[in-house]
Amino acid sequence: MIYVTKPFLPPKEEYLKYIDGIWNRNWLTNNGPLVNELELKLKDYLGVPHLLFLNNGTIALQIAIKALGLRGTLITTPFTYIATTSSIVWEGCKPQFVDIDSLSLNIDPLKIEAAITGETCAIMATHVYGNPCDIEAIETIANRHKIPVIYDAAHCFGTKYNGKSVFNYGTISTTSFHSTKLFHTVEGGAVFTKDSELSTRMEFMRNFGHNGPVDFAEVGINGKNSEFHAAMGLANFKYISSLLASRKEQSARYDKWLNSVHTQRLKISEKTEFNYAYYPLILENETMTLKVIKGLESSNISPRRYFNPSLNTVALYKSAALPVSESVSKRIICLPLYYSLSLEEIDLISRVILRAITS
Ligand SMILES: *Cc1c(COP(=O)(O)O)cnc(C)c1O
Repeated sequence: MIYVTKPFLPPKEEYLKYIDGIWNRNWLTNNGPLVNELELKLKDYLGVPHLLFLNNGTIALQIAIKALGLRGTLITTPFTYIATTSSIVWEGCKPQFVDIDSLSLNIDPLKIEAAITGETCAIMATHVYGNPCDIEAIETIANRHKIPVIYDAAHCFGTKYNGKSVFNYGTISTTSFHSTKLFHTVEGGAVFTKDSELSTRMEFMRNFGHNGPVDFAEVGINGKNSEFHAAMGLANFKYISSLLASRKEQSARYDKWLNSVHTQRLKISEKTEFNYAYYPLILENETMTLKVIKGLESSNISPRRYFNPSLNTVALYKSAALPVSESVSKRIICLPLYYSLSLEEIDLISRVILRAITS
């Protein structure tokens, strides 16, 4: 069986070396030395002023909303993972979906402007598949209306925009280090901001609000991550450039076979250095998409309808129709893409797709 993704695992000895250290110190969590080391290494690698390592990417979104004190409506995208939307609702705010741009598949800035009302307190946008939004356009709108921007950059490890990590943009940017993401710590996530006051507030928030053993600066939650998770991050850190390079090579291999069958390609701005985190295939219509999925499944290959459904059609969050997002979600699949996927497996997958399309 070929799955859509398979977590990367470093050589076991390299992970165990870090685990030995944990045994020696008997320090398992609460801002331990491995968490500190990972934070410093990532900050340096990504070139970001503030980074807080958290227990997952969903808590990262929730802490971002909380730290900005948001109340009211957040303008957001329906073409993302459910955690973007559910975090907004979990924090007592309201999501207002705005349709996506048909070429980048990111939230359409022109439609953001039109959707802003007196209730709008922020914009929460996802850089879908690791492809940055139109950051300048969104920033202009946010500045004009004096509202903050949170970027869900869960797919963006390794993506650069204007020569720097895309985590540098937005009032707050968040990411996920879940096992299925390009760089992972088993479970994990982070928040990034240029604002040191905001960073300090989020640092309190991830640790129950503690400002000393008996003093509390904020209402907090348990957003910390452990030494074991940091150990996985440190063991994986060494492989970042191989992880990025293999994704690029694998994507080029898919392209060689499939260039003729994509009805369109993800539009990636020239300002972007892409991380090839996902390989989306956009087909002509849903019938063709289901036919391709059936063909893959009968060859024991499991693609994923990522993202489907468009979140404005989910009963819990149901709202007005958004034609672009709804149309794309019915026609898009993400093909298997992970470190140990061989070029021969990509050839096999591609041949199955071509056969399904032409049959
Ligand atoms: C993975 C993901 C999340 C959630 O991250 P977790 O670490 O799994 O909590 C949020 N948003 C998007 C777009 C994601 O892909």
